[in-house]
Amino acid sequence: MYEVLIIGAGPAGMTAAIYAARAGYKTALVEHGIPGGQAATTDMIENYPGFPEGISGPELMLKFFEQTQTFGVEVIYEQVMSAELSGEIKKVTTENQTIEAKVVIIASGAKPKTLGVSNEGRLRGRGVSYCATCDGFFFKDQPVAVVGGGDTAVEEAMYLTKMCSSVTLIHRRDALRANRTAQNRALSNEKLHILYDTVVDDIIGEDKVTQLSLKNVKTEEISTLDVNGVFIFVGYSPNGSFLPDDLAVDSHGYIITNEEMETNLPGVFAIGDVRQKKLRQVTTAVGDGGAVMHAVEEYLRD
Ligand code: NAP
Repeated sequence: MYEVLIIGAGPAGMTAAIYAARAGYKTALVEHGIPGGQAATTDMIENYPGFPEGISGPELMLKFFEQTQTFGVEVIYEQVMSAELSGEIKKVTTENQTIEAKVVIIASGAKPKTLGVSNEGRLRGRGVSYCATCDGFFFKDQPVAVVGGGDTAVEEAMYLTKMCSSVTLIHRRDALRANRTAQNRALSNEKLHILYDTVVDDIIGEDKVTQLSLKNVKTEEISTLDVNGVFIFVGYSPNGSFLPDDLAVDSHGYIITNEEMETNLPGVFAIGDVRQKKLRQVTTAVGDGGAVMHAVEEYLRD
């Protein structure tokens, strides 16, 4: 029986684990992938304090992970399939076992949304990608497109200009959503072309992506763009397939908490990107991971 069981080893989960283990609680993290979550697939993190030159996502997440090990956090490398969270003893079931804990902290993060156009699923891994750091190198000296207008799309497009012959950013509106610094950098990058008011109608290719069919939403004009890869960054949705029905979530599936990160179920907390909140960044995930311990300690004491 663990005192604190944390589902998800991203920055939020690892921070909570460091705090819990350091406070002397028997603590475990359950994670089915590489620790670090989405931050581990980010090329460069420039807005995490303490690293004035910036730090690569994998390097920062490795440091987080090493710190969990300094304090003796156990790591269970399994996928959570379901959870019974309403009783005093929480039961979290993976593909291999049922783990019991007094407190469960859900830090399972979010996953990239798909565009939902035809051939997107069939050509995934064959030119369709949701991670520039993971797949960018496959398109060295080749033309690629990036879909989306937020921080992720613009920053990942900038990263791709380092290795691809050209990058076309396709955005459905006439103004980017990304922060001003990222926008200014993008606009002054000669390898980056921006197509505004444009949506991807279809992804074309037999065995791999060769073209995109595009539609201008204002003129309705259809065109094609020759690319070998398309990177899709149109937002995220929460990882909550294992959550029980009695846990309160909003209409998008994000877990509803109060300021203390408490959910509607006693002894169950949610932190990081899986939680309903406005800003999803490494700094806010870390903030959640630290802040949750106050309520966790109070719950365990009571
Ligand atoms: P986001 O801010 O939700 O942006 C998603 C983008 O995709 C928007 O431009 C949206 O268009 C577009 N989009 C959504 N659905 C679409 C569809 N079906 N077809 C075409 N385009 C579609 O997501 P994000 O960029 O991944 O960022 C998520 C969060 O992480 C944000 O809070 C962001 O600030 C943060 N983040 C911060 C940093 C940083 O500070 N360095 C880096 C990365 C991410 P509209 O603009 O028209 O809605």
